[in-house]
Amino acid sequence: MGNLALASKAPLRFHSAAGQQRRAGVQVVSDDAAPMISLSGVCKWYGTFQALRDIDLEVATGERVVVCGPSGSGKSTMIRCVNRLERHERGRIVVDGIELSDDARALRDIRAEVGMVFQGFNLFPHMSVLQNLTLGPMRVRGLARAEAESLAMHYLERVRIPEQAGKRPAQLSGGQQQRVAIARSLCMKPRIMLFDEPTSALDPEMIAEVLEVMVELAEEGMTMVCVTHEMGFARTVADRMVFMDAGEIVEVAPPSEFFREPREERTRLFLAQILRH
Ligand code: ADP
Ligand code: MG
Repeated sequence: MGNLALASKAPLRFHSAAGQQRRAGVQVVSDDAAPMISLSGVCKWYGTFQALRDIDLEVATGERVVVCGPSGSGKSTMIRCVNRLERHERGRIVVDGIELSDDARALRDIRAEVGMVFQGFNLFPHMSVLQNLTLGPMRVRGLARAEAESLAMHYLERVRIPEQAGKRPAQLSGGQQQRVAIARSLCMKPRIMLFDEPTSALDPEMIAEVLEVMVELAEEGMTMVCVTHEMGFARTVADRMVFMDAGEIVEVAPPSEFFREPREERTRLFLAQILRH
């Protein structure tokens, strides 16, 4: 991770005709100047338990946001609402101009724009790495096998494991599996990548190889929201830090301020705990 300091902060734009076409027919509620992701007044309950309380957050195109906070504070719930793996009950979420609702077409369009990588790798165990990567592009994007395979190999090279293409996931290390999971998401050409603690299930020696791939994505201008407690990564890559506690966003600040002089007592306590380890 020697060149981390070179991470470009200049947001790039990823406008494609395909993106526009995918959205044909869905009401587009914003324009180019609008944020890529916007949550306003978002609330979510699991039964009677309120997991999100009035969440307001805007993420600009090309921006990298790192979300941290204690276990159970609602981090996963918040980012899962962004691609509607969870449904919010109150407030508005708009992703790349599409408001999240029960509309099936809007949902399909959101899923095409937003890639997600979880703690567990969620690869199909009975398929080769290559088959895991070509499945989505062939089924969802309608690519021919040869085209899907060349796309898959391109992204396997990007995550530096092209030689693993023929293996099953169980034959790979955790770090390699997570890089396959990232490559699989990239094969769908998302405009936004969401990461939910992508390194927390990994042995320590494998964390760096996954973070390196994420740093490269950030350098290329991908819009990213990462839930992680890897604070070295956060300092290098994040444009803004978000600290959550008890279903609320407690503090949002650039990393320089966030780590040096957090405004809120709860943030200070949290940072004191995690930075001690
Ligand atoms: P974090 O990712 O910050 O650890 P989560 O978003 O996973 O937090 O969870 C926030 C709160 O919502 C926790 O109290 C958790 O127990 C609760 N929760 C999460 N998912 C569910 C669910 N499917 N059903 C009921 N409660 C849930
Ligand atoms: Mg979580």
